[in-house]
Parts: sequence; C-alpha cells; structure tokens
Amino acid sequence: MEILKGKVAIITGAASGIGKRIAEKFAESKANLVLTDINDDIKVRAEELAKNYSISAIGLKHNVSIEQQCKEVVEKTIEIFKKIDILINNAGITRDGLAIKMKEEDFDSVISVNLKGPFLMSKHSFVYMSKQRSGKIVNISSIVGQTGQAGQANYSASKAGLIGLTKSLAREFARRNINVNAIAPGFIATKMTEKLDEKAISTIIQQIPLQRLGTVDDVANLALFLSSDESSYITGQVIGVNGGLYM
Ligand code: NAD
Repeated sequence: MEILKGKVAIITGAASGIGKRIAEKFAESKANLVLTDINDDIKVRAEELAKNYSISAIGLKHNVSIEQQCKEVVEKTIEIFKKIDILINNAGITRDGLAIKMKEEDFDSVISVNLKGPFLMSKHSFVYMSKQRSGKIVNISSIVGQTGQAGQANYSASKAGLIGLTKSLAREFARRNINVNAIAPGFIATKMTEKLDEKAISTIIQQIPLQRLGTVDDVANLALFLSSDESSYITGQVIGVNGGLYM
C-alpha cells in the first residue's frame, strides 16, 4: 500500500532496530526519506532504500542532542524536498544502573538524547510544518516511561518526559493541524533488548499476556498509521505496543 506516497519523512536513529524497520516500511509506502543517525552506516542504508523502493532518500550523520545539527537536518530536508510531512523521533540510548550508583554523565546523556533530541527536532520542524499547516510527529517513548523500571531511572525519566513533551506539543501545534503522538513499546526484540540475559527475558515473557516479545514490525505498523492521513483525528495520545504488559 502506497499510503505515504509523496510525503517527506525524517526518521532519527534509523540505522538499526525499530528506526531501521520504520524506514523500510515508509519506503515500501513510497515516502521520500531523510534518515539520520550517529552511525555512518546511515548513508549506505538510505542509498539501498532509494534503489530498492524507487524513492528519494538521503542519509545524514546526526547527533540529536546537538541543536545546530538538528537545525541543519531540517534545513537540508527543506533544501532537497521543500517540505516536512512527518518527523519520527526514534533515536534513543540506555545507560542502565541502580540510581545510587548512576553517574551524573549517564543521567545527562540519556536525557539529552531521548528527551532533548525530540524537543529540538520538533522545534525546528515546526517552523516549516506550521507554514504548511500540516504535519505528523511521532515520538518513540517506552512502557517504562509509564511504569518506571528499577535500574533505569535515567531512561524511564527520559521516556516519561517524552510523554509530557508529546502532550504539550500536541496542544501547542494542534491549531496548525499538526498531530503529535507517542508510541510506548514494551519489550521489543532488538539490539537494545539483546543486552538482557536469557533468564531476564523469560521472566519478562511470563508477565506478557500475549506471551512473546514484540517485533520491530509491531512498532513500525503503528508508526505508519500515526504518520498517515488515516489518523488525522488522533493527537496527544500515548499508544502502547506491549502485548498487554501495561494496560
Ligand atoms: P537501537 O539501539 O537498535 O537503535 C537506536 C538507534 O539510535 C541506533 O541506530 C543508534 O545509533 C541511534 N542513536 C543513538 N544515539 C543517537 C544520537 N545521539 N543521535 C542520533 N542517533 C542516535 O534501539 P531500538 O531498540 O531500535 O530503539 C529505538 C527506540 O525505541 C529508542 O528510542 C528506544 O528507547 C525505544 N524503545 C525500544 C524498546 C525495545 O525493546 N527495543 C522498547 C521501548 C522503547
């Protein structure tokens, strides 16, 4: 289905995991893409998608926690594609540890990438989305932003903050016809969850009503819907993709 045909989407953290799958799904749906990541592989990834799906795509090396770089990504998008229809704030990191032992730099870096990054990208994209009077912003939060998680004070605070950011921006941007929503994935099989040992994974699975980890597809399908015209009356929402783990 070509439901994003003619749309221009920026996806951060698109070199691996969930962001990589969202990029592929959007390419299948015929969006033109600006893929960003701190990982240099992003340029090759964009070239592959452009070739395989006959779309336009560029890959930009980008650190979402640096404002000047966010501004440049947005300006480059406008220079090449003349508009921004969709922004997927997906880049995220973990620096886990018990709060009592957590270093200040591990707290700051997680907040900087996971919360400040989406703020900066949304702020700079808004300049153009507001002139267009249309836009979709999707923030990838997490179930632990809703429930909290021992060993992840920094990460869960960043993801809870992202939910607050989503709702505030949804209110500010609504009059310009810009929808802002958050996806809160549960435990999704990616590099991020590979860090957990087998025992931890099987304990988690026992608690999930649907009895499995999520896939990157489960998240990408919702990102596609929230980025399409089909979701035009949905804004300020946090939608769980968690197998029923949090209701
Ligand atoms: P991942 O590590 O596979 O992918 C994250 C990508 O972000 C990587 O390509 C990485 O290079 C990039 N990145 C990191 N720091 C960056 C920065 N400063 N600027 C730009 N890019 C940067 O992880 P994932 O599991 O695909 O996670 C994607 C998003 O989903 C994250 O926001 C994560 O917090 C969230 N999430 C993941 C899970 C899960 O179970 N995997 C659950 C809930 C939420």
